[in-house]
Amino acid sequence: MYKAPRGTIDILPAEQKYYRYIEEKAADICRLYSYERIDTPVFEDSGLFVRTIGSGTDIVEKEMYTFEDRGGQSMTLRPEGTAPICRAYLEHGMHNLPQPVRLYYLASIFRYERPQKGRYRQHQQFGVEAIGDGDAALDAEVIEMAWRFFKSLGLRKFVIHLNSIGCRDCRPAYLEKLRDYYSEHVDKLCPDCKSRMKRNTLRLLDCKQPSCLELSQSAPQGERCLCPECKQHFTNVARYLRLMKVPFQKDHRLVRGLDYYTRTVFEVQPKVEWGAQSALGGGGRYDGLIEELGGKPTPAIGFAVGVDRIVMSLKEQRIRLSESPLRGLFVAYAGDEAKAAAVRFAAELRRNGLLVYSSFGRGSLKSQLRQANTLGVEYTFIFGEDEIANSTVTYRDMETGEQWQVALEEVFELLAEG
Ligand code: AMP
Repeated sequence: MYKAPRGTIDILPAEQKYYRYIEEKAADICRLYSYERIDTPVFEDSGLFVRTIGSGTDIVEKEMYTFEDRGGQSMTLRPEGTAPICRAYLEHGMHNLPQPVRLYYLASIFRYERPQKGRYRQHQQFGVEAIGDGDAALDAEVIEMAWRFFKSLGLRKFVIHLNSIGCRDCRPAYLEKLRDYYSEHVDKLCPDCKSRMKRNTLRLLDCKQPSCLELSQSAPQGERCLCPECKQHFTNVARYLRLMKVPFQKDHRLVRGLDYYTRTVFEVQPKVEWGAQSALGGGGRYDGLIEELGGKPTPAIGFAVGVDRIVMSLKEQRIRLSESPLRGLFVAYAGDEAKAAAVRFAAELRRNGLLVYSSFGRGSLKSQLRQANTLGVEYTFIFGEDEIANSTVTYRDMETGEQWQVALEEVFELLAEG
């Protein structure tokens, strides 16, 4: 028997309502902040990701689904959403539009990770990108948007962690300080961090291994090494967030797994962690990315949230989803002649926009009514010999069990009146 590939999940009908709920809330918040939807291909030229995410990162080193297509080109299944959007921004001349250009996406993301709770090899992200504005007020607006999105879902108990990782000019000196600090404690580092030390020093700060975690607590803090411009930017982001009444906490150990970030980085985390992989979302500035792809220097900022992890949180916090008011009707029959009338009637109801259930394969009326009960419908229409003979239909209230015969004409008239 085949099974879903390791690290992937089937989203069964019972789960779909959570996904639709999140998608609707995402579309609502995007409308409010004037973001427009964009969809890019599931795979891209591998170079796009290697160049932007960075060759020393975990994603590029070990997690990409890369393959050669039949024309000999190296392609990669999208391991993150930002680089493809920046590619599209340049390819379609969006720098000619009023800036910032605000875009959002809902997309599957592929990473060959070690599967565990909340960490899959294919997961879904909702993300936004605001391209073409470097002002700290935009950082605050994007963070506020992420915060409002989580609020609108009804989720409680999440916090925003905020940090600045500086820019091309001030980061090298900070990395030097970090390397000096860690090289004095190499023996306490986990094997992964030992090998990361030269290539991806920042990542040592967010390693979850107990001994690394302890070391990172007293590691040099990035905020103290920022150049005056980055420092001012960070101060302004914090000031605007306070003005907007968005709660956040500074976290000098917060870094991101991709090389392209500059200045502001942030993450949305549950207050109570449920494992090493607990972030619900994250983002930050990437002022050098568009230039890296051959465009003019163009500052930008965005965030992405993990839809599957939000589903887990909604369930854990027992959030009641606002349910569709449609409860549906059931059409049942007794006898072959009545069946044809029931089939025609069900089609007529659907043509009138009603949600209709039926179980025409079940012979007995009793079993059909049982099915209607299980589905939780409010009313059932029943056709039998009598009803056919006098052009009526029986209308049964499933809660009370009361039923009435009504003339078919009347039902159709009622439907026609809406
Ligand atoms: P990242 O770009 O890695 O920060 O991902 C953005 C968000 O997507 C994270 O905060 C998680 O909520 C979610 N996410 C990232 N990787 C995975 C994964 N392997 N499985 C499920 N969700 C993930």
